[in-house]
Amino acid sequence: MAVQRTFSILKPDATRRNLTGAVNAVIEKAGLRIVAQKRIQMTKAQAETFYAVHAARPFFGELVEFMISAPVVVQVLEGENAIATYRDVMGATNPANAAEGTIRKLFAQSVGENTVHGSDAPETAAIEIAQFFAGNEIVG
Ligand code: ADP
Ligand code: MG
Repeated sequence: MAVQRTFSILKPDATRRNLTGAVNAVIEKAGLRIVAQKRIQMTKAQAETFYAVHAARPFFGELVEFMISAPVVVQVLEGENAIATYRDVMGATNPANAAEGTIRKLFAQSVGENTVHGSDAPETAAIEIAQFFAGNEIVG
């Protein structure tokens, strides 16, 4: 598997609790390199676009409100098989089901406030990276 890039968000529950460094330590320990990173306040429009695939789900409104409730840190992570590697490091969506040592097991508070986002496929990774980063902001 070649070197790949994935898109990551440290969600509002992470910034609110001052956990961005602790989460980044887990990311880096897993062998992923943070090749782009910025702290932003997402707008409602950005959050709705980002999670448009979930627009019909009952939790969509709550999810958008959560994502704009505090700053987030958006990142591009690079490494061997980065998309699957990061999904493994993140752990299951619901922290109650997340494996020991994963970010969500270590830090997440609920299925909604679950600390991190990671892309699920190469196509979505490319779209998500392009929503938040210009090419010259990514320095591998
Ligand atoms: P993942 O982030 O693991 O890829 P999904 O793509 O299924 O998970 O969902 C996107 C996000 O929506 C989740 O990370 C979580 O913040 C929120 N979410 C998912 N399921 C629920 C739920 N049942 N109730 C509230 N929020 C949810
Ligand atoms: Mg998802």
